[in-house]
Amino acid sequence: MDIFPEATNAEETLDPPDWADVGALSHRILDDAIAYLEDVRDRPVWREMPAEVRAFFCAPLPRSPAPAADVYDDVARNVMPYPMGNIHPRFWSWYMGSSNFTGALGDFLAAIQGSNLGGGNHAAALMDSQVVNWMKEMVGFPAWASGTLVSGGSMANIIGLTVARNVKAGVDVRERGVGAMPKPLRYYASDQVHSCHRKAVEALGLGNQALRRIQTDAGLRIDIAALKAAIAEDREAGFRPACVIGTAGTVNTGAVDDLQALASVAAEEDLWFHVDGCIGALIAIAPENRSLVAGIEQADSIALDPHKWLHAPFEAGCALVRDASQHRNTFAVTPEYLESTPRGLASGEWLHDYGLQTSRGFRALKIWMALKEHGVEKFGRLIDQNIAQARHLTRLIEAEPALELMAPSTINIVCFRHRLDGASEEKLKAFNTEIMLRLQEEGTAALSDTTVQGRHCLRVAIANHRTRRSDLDLLVAEMLRLGREIEAAIPV
Ligand SMILES: *Cc1c(COP(=O)(O)O)cnc(C)c1O
Repeated sequence: MDIFPEATNAEETLDPPDWADVGALSHRILDDAIAYLEDVRDRPVWREMPAEVRAFFCAPLPRSPAPAADVYDDVARNVMPYPMGNIHPRFWSWYMGSSNFTGALGDFLAAIQGSNLGGGNHAAALMDSQVVNWMKEMVGFPAWASGTLVSGGSMANIIGLTVARNVKAGVDVRERGVGAMPKPLRYYASDQVHSCHRKAVEALGLGNQALRRIQTDAGLRIDIAALKAAIAEDREAGFRPACVIGTAGTVNTGAVDDLQALASVAAEEDLWFHVDGCIGALIAIAPENRSLVAGIEQADSIALDPHKWLHAPFEAGCALVRDASQHRNTFAVTPEYLESTPRGLASGEWLHDYGLQTSRGFRALKIWMALKEHGVEKFGRLIDQNIAQARHLTRLIEAEPALELMAPSTINIVCFRHRLDGASEEKLKAFNTEIMLRLQEEGTAALSDTTVQGRHCLRVAIANHRTRRSDLDLLVAEMLRLGREIEAAIPV
């Protein structure tokens, strides 16, 4: 019996008054979404937003309600036409994946089910652990290793580097902090290491100088002799060499460090061996190229990125740690309000004990659904396909006198530039940057640029299941056309 009828009547909810209306709108959104992906190839990769679109995002906090259909129309008009572009077949900037529809459905269902993956005894938590187990299997880690899904590769690297710090600190660093360490720790990585490692050592209280950048060889892989010399020098100077970071696929050129050699150095020198495999760890599932990352299975920890070569919708990263107890001992805390119970919802493992987040999203579902649908072998073939496409582009560049390769390409990243007879490095940079910007502005292709061994270059990173070889043929043709146009317009 309702004893407070008035109070009950005043109660509100976010649920719609009529679910049937929501159904109609949802079906329209779904139809639009399918059409959006179906014609992605026909749209520009990227386009600049007109002033009215920019102004739309300056609207103040909404105070009164609007029909959900109007809200969707706003999104359809102002957001959907102006994407970053990474789902487009000719997006090759920086390094990201190109998403997939089943994964998007997974994200939708994860939000509908709404579970918090901080842990607890429910199906989503079991699936989260299952996906971590699948990742271990993909890179050849033992079943008893542990891991956690995180937002991306940067967080996955922080997880690995934090466990390394705590294991090698020589003191209970969780309790006493880095100031109590008997010797300052040193981490080692090649001079091509991703910038997230700098953020990691800074956030870990070790300081940027604790990360020694070791010179690279002609293939832009860490120079093993220089690494050994740096370790010896640091020991001599009173530091504690603690961790070597191998990169399986550098962000500049895709160089893969000699992981077997690094594993040996780590074993000889008593170092933690972490692999930044955000780009390349998953080459372990690619039948034609997996030998490139041999040795990865010997790592103490690995960071990998399902939102890159597994094309999971953002965000999804994964940290794996060989010794599960070292992993748990780095992060586990059990406050009184999160104690496990023998049965019921709070029984079982708390997943938040393996990282820094307490609340966690249900990232596993989008990965799980796409893996179930396609099978891991197809993802492996797609990785091989991207590497073959990069070789195709390399051959096109080699065959074209106006273009020049700027770094060795072993996986799916190609660094190159348009030549300009007699031009200085500075002019070459301006000329190539202009080509890159016009390709973006005309909506033809998205490339990015970088500097390798002191020389500016354009960079194509093909982590894209929609790219075809003909897209790369078009890129070369358009670059040559733009090169001629720009050279004629602005005498260089
Ligand atoms: C992408 C990348 C990262 C960072 O990963 P996010 O998923 O962007 O956080 C780290 N290292 C390498 C080599 C990468 O390519």
